[in-house]
Amino acid sequence: MPTRGRRRQVDTSTHCCPNPACADRGWVGWGNLRANGHPHGGSWRQLLCVACHRSFLETLSTLFHGKRASVELIVRVIACLAEGLGLRGTARVCEVDPNTVLQWLVEAAEPLRAFSPHVLHDVRVRQVQLDEVFALLSAVKEGEVSEAEAIERLERAPQWVWVAMDPESKLLLAIDVGSRTLAMAQRVVHQVVQVLAPDRAPLFLTDGFREYLTALLTHYGHWVRPPRRQAPGPAPKPRWMPLPHLLYAQVVKTVRRRRLVAVTHRVVFGTLEAVNQVLAPFGWQSNTAFVERINLTIRQHVAAVGRRVSTLCKGEDGMRQQLAVFHCYDNFCLPHARVRQPLPQPEPTHGGGSAKQWRPCTPAMAAGLTDRVWSLKEVLLFRVPPWPQYRGR
Ligand SMILES: [Zn+2]
Repeated sequence: MPTRGRRRQVDTSTHCCPNPACADRGWVGWGNLRANGHPHGGSWRQLLCVACHRSFLETLSTLFHGKRASVELIVRVIACLAEGLGLRGTARVCEVDPNTVLQWLVEAAEPLRAFSPHVLHDVRVRQVQLDEVFALLSAVKEGEVSEAEAIERLERAPQWVWVAMDPESKLLLAIDVGSRTLAMAQRVVHQVVQVLAPDRAPLFLTDGFREYLTALLTHYGHWVRPPRRQAPGPAPKPRWMPLPHLLYAQVVKTVRRRRLVAVTHRVVFGTLEAVNQVLAPFGWQSNTAFVERINLTIRQHVAAVGRRVSTLCKGEDGMRQQLAVFHCYDNFCLPHARVRQPLPQPEPTHGGGSAKQWRPCTPAMAAGLTDRVWSLKEVLLFRVPPWPQYRGR
């Protein structure tokens, strides 16, 4: 609240001071920032830190900082990319140079990659589904390479998109690109463990890829000393065993001529009874459908995965950036029909149509991380603090 002039109040509680020499640097909600108006009549506010008396623009460290182009145009370009239009397509629709689009994508991906871990933590879910999506499927479809040849090529090439999702809230816990190896399985499981609340383990569902077993055992294991069989001799060596509450099941799909022929289930850790208990409201059947659904969504929304793309974004890096945009967009901006919530009272619409029955709900809302649908502009404008915050000083 400024003391002079017209009374006005600007919420600065999501910003932090960037000055390395400032005592309050990097802490959010300490009340050290004051809005200072719009310098030179520009569209962005200047914020003043009362601790170090330095000022900075509210767009600092976001995509919009120092850009001449209009905010609406930049948001539209990123929205096109998030909706799955390729770089060149986006450039044509928005009448921007393709290289500018690529530049903005690269600049947008950096803060968005920090945004996801900032908001996704201590997530409580009952199930986690892990899957690898085949990034080169379009080439197979068009008959350029045979399926066997493509798989052989892909086993080595870093062309797999790894996804971890909670099938209940549709929240994407982790998304990454890499080869189909144990190292990658470890990396993805590690990312999932970072996001989840540490006190319990959900039910993990994967396909038949065997490296998941090692990766899960690494993260959810402990040393167990087996009991002595006979009194004399040395004590038996401790063994690394899965935690007793760990539940892990594999859903193995047999696909012939791109059609699902059979689905078999295998409980790896835990008992079938315990797994069935978690799955009771959903059933095994719907679970295989979820996997198919993520694959489709990613193909539709990430141009580099879905179809043949321009040379600009063929590299692993370009894909990683598009996935970073998609990760935030899907979790925070896109309402999902499956997780919508009924309104307590139907709201009449302005036109002559029937009353509104449902409240749109994003995966992040369904998972209890936020209480509203974020606009892409809000996500892009969000300044991620340099370290995790805690309550109270
Ligand atoms: Zn400061």
